[in-house]
Amino acid sequence: MALMITSECINCDVCEPECPNQAISMGDEFYVIDPARCTECVGHFDEPQCVQVCPVECIPVSPDHPETREQLQAKYEQLVGAGAVRQRLRVG
Ligand code: SF4
Ligand code: SF4
Repeated sequence: MALMITSECINCDVCEPECPNQAISMGDEFYVIDPARCTECVGHFDEPQCVQVCPVECIPVSPDHPETREQLQAKYEQLVGAGAVRQRLRVG
């Protein structure tokens, strides 16, 4: 499942740079996670990095985005593949 940030967020900024998928950004009132980019850190780390650093524990799994580990892995591979294509286009 993708994770989500609740309104408990105190906008401390520490999670955003920790995300390996650039899934976290500032929303209207507090930080938000793009479910299309969150793999629960599958493919990069054993544990969700944002959860590790959040001081107020406001990042639960999102019930709106049920995904198996296999689906998260596939999302990771798609994101990495898309990144590789962008890299090639920049170089070319
Ligand atoms: S769990 Fe990982 S991929 Fe998802 S938002 Fe947190 S740091 Fe990013
Ligand atoms: S680490 Fe937690 S409190 Fe800080 S910006 Fe991220 S979600 Fe909000």
